[in-house]
Amino acid sequence: RIVVAGSANMDLVGFAERLPRPGETVLGHDFVMAPGGKGANQAIAAARAGASCTMLGAIGSDAFGVTIKARLNASGVDTEHLRTSYGSSGVAVIMVDGGGENSIIVSPGANNTFAGLSAAETTVIAESDVLVCQQEIPPDTVLAAARAAHAGGTRFILNAAPARDLAPELLETIDLLVVNEGEATAITGTPEPDLPALLALVPRVVLTLGANGSRYADRDGREEHVPAFPVEAADSTAAGDAFTGALAVAWGEGRDLIAAVRWANAAGAACARTAGASASLPSRADIDALYSR
Ligand code: ADP
Repeated sequence: RIVVAGSANMDLVGFAERLPRPGETVLGHDFVMAPGGKGANQAIAAARAGASCTMLGAIGSDAFGVTIKARLNASGVDTEHLRTSYGSSGVAVIMVDGGGENSIIVSPGANNTFAGLSAAETTVIAESDVLVCQQEIPPDTVLAAARAAHAGGTRFILNAAPARDLAPELLETIDLLVVNEGEATAITGTPEPDLPALLALVPRVVLTLGANGSRYADRDGREEHVPAFPVEAADSTAAGDAFTGALAVAWGEGRDLIAAVRWANAAGAACARTAGASASLPSRADIDALYSR
């Protein structure tokens, strides 16, 4: 069983030929509204990849919260312990121009009320095989969840996205760190991703490299570039979420980590070749079909 403790948002996406300047209004064309947030996306990714998955976090008491929860349930995610906080759900207001460039405001809303883990939430974490967190919820909540995992013998994957400073107490709890190149350089303060510097902080690292696949390294001296599955990329939004969700599932099933990373690459590629964010998260059959091709 996988447990994700993280964010859930409603993404409101408006498309226009060009982005408005400050103070300006431009007339756009399409509009898409879809549940998102790295936590919810990774929970959906894990459930679609074939695990039982529980989502911990907070939605608001508004209509967006109802829609987000329904989407999680429809994807097979257990929301029994998902909190509903009085007020707004997390919302991402996204503007996209004709070239695909975007500007985004994320209003965390209910995600910032996810604090002080309950006994029931702690138990869910302790009884799971793998805990996955990202960094769109308060840092103290990530730390509390990580400690609950550590105490319960649950493996902890931190997807350090978006990047922020990692407290020493948190670093001690991480079994596997998943970062893209931007996050890797932000953590080590180096111009290029530096795996030895990351391994000085945590025992195992996966660095995702977009269309170049990913790189695995650990303190036992294993280091391997795991090539991507070539696909015609339509939209890489949520590829990282598909990757992390699938990686948690494969590791939770007891696969060797390098094999798990390879399978997660297939999940990221299957997501990237399909347009849309959470709607493009692949099923286990989609992942296996690409993996065994
Ligand atoms: P993020 O979205 O977090 O920056 P990446 O872009 O590195 O994450 O994508 C995560 C994983 O998804 C990659 O490690 C890779 O395996 C897969 N992936 C992403 N984009 C592509 C692509 N264009 N072709 C094939 N695989 C991809």
